[in-house]
Amino acid sequence: MTESKEARHPVLKVRDLKVYYETPKGDVLAVDGINFDLYEGETLGLVGESGCGKSTAAMGILQLVVPPGRIAGGEVLLEGHSLLGLPENMLRSIRWIKLALIPQGAMNSLNPTMKVCDQIKDVIIAHEGKRARKDIRQRILKLLATVGLPGRVYDMYPHELSGGMKQRVCIAMAIALNPTIIIADEATSALDVVVQRIVAQTLLKVKQALGVSMIMIGHDMGLMAQMVDRIAVMYAGKIVEIAPVADLFANPRHPYSQLLIESIPSLKERKPLKITEGITHDPRNPPPGCIFQLRCPFVMDKCRVVAPPGLEVKPGQIVACHLYQENKDGSMVNVANAAGNT
Ligand code: SF4
Repeated sequence: MTESKEARHPVLKVRDLKVYYETPKGDVLAVDGINFDLYEGETLGLVGESGCGKSTAAMGILQLVVPPGRIAGGEVLLEGHSLLGLPENMLRSIRWIKLALIPQGAMNSLNPTMKVCDQIKDVIIAHEGKRARKDIRQRILKLLATVGLPGRVYDMYPHELSGGMKQRVCIAMAIALNPTIIIADEATSALDVVVQRIVAQTLLKVKQALGVSMIMIGHDMGLMAQMVDRIAVMYAGKIVEIAPVADLFANPRHPYSQLLIESIPSLKERKPLKITEGITHDPRNPPPGCIFQLRCPFVMDKCRVVAPPGLEVKPGQIVACHLYQENKDGSMVNVANAAGNT
């Protein structure tokens, strides 16, 4: 699925990226040929159910895939430069400075034996050398203030902080070197809803203040609606739809996107919990044709044979599904509802 051309400048291009995990019974196709661009100052949401490949995609972009995983193909271009095949020392210098990660369960990734100040210092000095020691205290205090933490946190150990505070320390570390791109992998999912809101607002504030581009990985569609500019929906290692956030929520085109949106509880009406019927295929042996065919309520014969290409059904909204076809005049039609143009 390839995106439409846009006038904005992409800082990151992901092309046909494949990340596989080797098992005795064959490769698990965790990420199987994803394509997207991330634009300057943009927040892109990457959503989908657990195990769909969101976090593996992040590891692929950061070149942090470790055995039994491997990058099986594709390209990752950061500001026009390919990251694939770069030696580890070069990648290390790019991480944090250009590409920073707020990892899943970030609050557990802090070193319990080191004070907050020393952990942030380590990141800065590792990349800027000893010259960074000058004024480093002021710099760290400013970082803590940026993420809404009081100065006393500087001298505290992680066990003295709440979950939300730890998470904000991780955000402070991620922005310490003014990265071009932040990848926030489920940055708020381990927190209760109130703290989740505070951390999400911190992320948004930081993003706006620094003008950084962000990939936000998660499955909380409500949070995504408030935080991101565009959403890419992943299913079983593939991006099945990508669209501006308003368009995806107002008119999701892919059947899986529709089911995801329908699963959001509503305060206005009580509705039964929508369940996606069917079973997911064996990720080592995907069926020919569409990846969603075993669970799709609209499956057709063609879906079992031909993989659907990405089709731009509306400017910026691209969907990989045979339900949509382009008429000779360039308009789009939904073949399941051929009476009305989409
Ligand atoms: Fe469903 Fe077919 Fe569309 Fe796949 S291509 S999502 S099986 S209608």
